[in-house]
Amino acid sequence: MQMSEARRYQQLRAHLSYLKLNDAAEALNRVLDQSRTERMSLTAALERLLEIEVEATEARKRAARERFACLPEPWTLADFDFAAQPGVDEKLIRDLATLRFLDDASNVLFVGPPGVGKTMLSVALGRAAVDAGPRLLIIDELGYLPLPEDGASALFQVINQRYLKSSTILTTNVGIADWAGAFGDATVAAAMLDRLLHRAAVAGIDGPSYRLRGHRNQAENLRAGVNARVS
Ligand code: ADP
Ligand code: MG
Repeated sequence: MQMSEARRYQQLRAHLSYLKLNDAAEALNRVLDQSRTERMSLTAALERLLEIEVEATEARKRAARERFACLPEPWTLADFDFAAQPGVDEKLIRDLATLRFLDDASNVLFVGPPGVGKTMLSVALGRAAVDAGPRLLIIDELGYLPLPEDGASALFQVINQRYLKSSTILTTNVGIADWAGAFGDATVAAAMLDRLLHRAAVAGIDGPSYRLRGHRNQAENLRAGVNARVS
């Protein structure tokens, strides 16, 4: 009797391994012990065993998404100081963070000068997408450097292929009115904008540079000091 019970245990472990439920196979002994000591029902024991496998699978998938995303920083929306950036529409950003814009393949454009948080907000939305599992492309810093030869048409093809299918976040320092001049070919730029903006949230961020905050404070302290001495 005991022999056959042991064999059945080995068989069950082998089944789990064959089905590549390795974490469940690993936990089997422990869960069976728990089920005996806690007098669990068969349903409860099976549920606990499979829960272990589901959680491990979810963690692996998440880690894979994390690697694939290659986000440059661990930023989340909680790190973004809205009070420090009056140029940003907090309501819009919080709405974007629900990721509803992914459902209808809408795009997001962050347009503004350097240091206003365009990359940070894109990364935070990217992080939310990694957590939730949906697909999203982020094209950061379009416009600082001239596009290489054929760059505009390659970019157009990316935008065109994703058009109405999947969302893209794009950050740029180039105002929409200036795209034609900035991306070489005015026709390509117009066609690209046409598709990008058809369904899009455009967040123009026209506020102070966060990067230069320290410098500005220094400058203001200096000025205050000088004024104090003069008066
Ligand atoms: P941009 O892409 O617009 O040039 P970044 O997103 O790279 O600006 O922001 C520049 C730096 O300032 C980053 O280190 C970023 O984390 C920080 N930063 C910008 N805006 C904020 C903000 N509102 N709250 C906290 N940190 C900010
Ligand atoms: Mg940036």
